Amino acid sequence: MKPNLRMALVGNPNAGKTTLFNTLTGARQHVGNYPGITVDYKEGAFTHQTQENRQEITLTDLPGTYSLTAYSVEEVVTRDYLVNEKPQVVINIVDASNLERNLYLTTQFLELGCPLIIALNMIDVAKDRGIEISAEKLAELLGVPVVPIIARSGQGTDTLISQAIIQAAQEWQPRDISYGEDLDEAIMELITIITETNFLTPTYPARFTAIKYLEHDDQILQKGQKDDSATAARLDEKVTQVSDHLLKTMDAYPEAIIADHRYGFIKSILRQGVQTHTFDIDRLYTSDKIDKVLTNRLLGPVIMLMILFGLYQFTFVWSELPVSWLGMLFGWLGGQVELILPDGPVKSMIISGVINGMGGVLGFVPLIMFMFLGIAVLEDSGYLARVAFMMDRIFHIFGLHGSSVMPFIVSGGIAGGCAVPGVLATRTLRSPKERMATLLTVPFMNCGAKVPIIALLISAFFSEHKAIYMFLFTLISWAVALLAAKFLRATVLRGAATPFVMELPPYRFPTLRGLAIHTWERTWQYIKKAGTVILGISILLWAMMTYPGLPAATQAAYDQQRQTVTAAFAPDIIAESTSKKEEISKEAASIRRQISAITNQESEQALRSSLAGRIGIALEPVSRLAGFDWRTNIALVGGVAAKEVIISTLGTAYSMGKVKKEASDSLGKRLTSDPNWNKVVAVAVLIFIMFYSPCFVTVVCIAKEAGHWGWALFSVSFNTIFAFLLATAVYQIGTWLG
Ligand code: GDP
Ligand code: MG
Repeated sequence: MKPNLRMALVGNPNAGKTTLFNTLTGARQHVGNYPGITVDYKEGAFTHQTQENRQEITLTDLPGTYSLTAYSVEEVVTRDYLVNEKPQVVINIVDASNLERNLYLTTQFLELGCPLIIALNMIDVAKDRGIEISAEKLAELLGVPVVPIIARSGQGTDTLISQAIIQAAQEWQPRDISYGEDLDEAIMELITIITETNFLTPTYPARFTAIKYLEHDDQILQKGQKDDSATAARLDEKVTQVSDHLLKTMDAYPEAIIADHRYGFIKSILRQGVQTHTFDIDRLYTSDKIDKVLTNRLLGPVIMLMILFGLYQFTFVWSELPVSWLGMLFGWLGGQVELILPDGPVKSMIISGVINGMGGVLGFVPLIMFMFLGIAVLEDSGYLARVAFMMDRIFHIFGLHGSSVMPFIVSGGIAGGCAVPGVLATRTLRSPKERMATLLTVPFMNCGAKVPIIALLISAFFSEHKAIYMFLFTLISWAVALLAAKFLRATVLRGAATPFVMELPPYRFPTLRGLAIHTWERTWQYIKKAGTVILGISILLWAMMTYPGLPAATQAAYDQQRQTVTAAFAPDIIAESTSKKEEISKEAASIRRQISAITNQESEQALRSSLAGRIGIALEPVSRLAGFDWRTNIALVGGVAAKEVIISTLGTAYSMGKVKKEASDSLGKRLTSDPNWNKVVAVAVLIFIMFYSPCFVTVVCIAKEAGHWGWALFSVSFNTIFAFLLATAVYQIGTWLG
């Protein structure tokens, strides 16, 4: 057995030192403490067995550091250990998935000159990230052995130790790295002084001391001062001279230039075939080429608008049939319940509350699904990141940040998102003011709950140009959000802008599986919400729209009216002539009309006197300014709970006052035939829905994220007032123009 070998483990924090240490030494280790400081070190022993011989090894796990300049206790401890204890070999563990940064420390071991071996750790992680490293090439360029390992599984550690044992035979031999003409010359002069006087040479190589002097390393300066103050003064003088020169010529301190050159050294090594990306490098070039067109200053935005328009076209055209099928299905369901159940509150609740309410929401599942599919294509292909990139330029103009783009898109910037994750996504913003401005304006986007109501009103009132209108309303939502942000940033949230850098991932073909998963996940969330929260609110609103019913006396009066009408109808039972028969059937039809008119009046009066109806009516004097009738008001109030409820409440409100045949019409048809509605009203209602108070859950999130309920209340009141003013302007101007 050979005499004991002493090895030291060094590397950046988290490079895997402790893992490797444990893999090698197992239980044979103990923790020590450096005298006077709180940094732990661990020492362990193990036997390396080969066919020919056994080798006892003592291994020390040194603190993790990023450099060898005395900036922190860890750096001092590590450096002192190396120069004082002089381990026979130093194992530099390097994180292969983060090679460039890890090699920075390596350059300093090279300069120190200790016998070195590199353990290239985490090659599994690197591989997963598409990074391939040639250990041979790296070894050749650095001039030290490089052994790929996976510390966690122990793979490669045997080879590592065998190589380390060979390496232990090496002498200390500092390597030179060039720091540019000025510094190289200064270093040579410093080295001359240092070697002449044997300044600190027993401990540090001359070149290492010279560089540390240039880096203003406190510990070495102190040591030098104590050791040989005369030489130290000469070195100081020289360093000051060089620093002044560099400051004048390059506007930088020597430390900065040294660091630059170390990174330059590493970069040139990595570029010489050491690090390659296993994913198709061609793909990167192709991506660049595609980006030349797609993110072009002029063409880019035009193409972006075309793509978005295409998305709406696709969504509306392709979802039209399935949406109408679902509408028919719910109509049929309503009809069946109408036939089966006896009249009464249960029937009314099931038809008006459940079927019309939920049906209104679920009926749009195909549309939502197509929208999500389109967005999944944009997202998975990498195009969405380009959208963010292009929007960034615009965002700065409005006092927002590039990082605001994603929250906007998540909230429904392209249509069909949700403001809740959007609000949470603002966490990526560092500047508090930019963050608040983003937080308060993301609810203006057309979230997945607003899309159905927008789609419904567009289909009902602008059926000729659905995609164009959807596109237009999306543009309006952005314009309003940005202007509101600008307004906030110029008033309550005034402050400077912060810069933004963004990496664009390469384009890739979306996989069918990925698209299916993304589309389904989001669609399912929509369905789940409809089945739970929305169902609950629908029933609650139905109750508010039903109770308290009409007083018994009023009801009796209506019954009386109906009876009077029926009693007046007393046809001859035996009518002989055909003309007589015709006359009778005409009369019967007229009776039916009269009865349904009475029933209609009765249900409308019932709705008016219900709790919700009273609220709607109370709001009418104000809401009339924007063209909303009391029924619309009910839906809008309900929408504060959740925007989905607007459509279901409109469905309920407009089905209650109707007779059977009309009630099974689609809501769109019912609205177009209602005298209170027209195109101008539809636009005013849409504008109001797009911009008024965020839904309840979003408000809670805003309060949490802003850390203050004040901002949540601000957003409720600011948005509602703002939306109402806009809607009023639309209605008044629209009506005036005719
Ligand atoms: P230290 O700070 O250098 O001591 O690093 P640790 O040994 O504590 O390791 C940091 C993390 O990296 C731990 O979670 C380890 O499990 C993990 N790790 C270490 N080596 C490997 C490896 O080769 N592959 C993988 N995947 N993880 C590793
Ligand atoms: Mg550790």
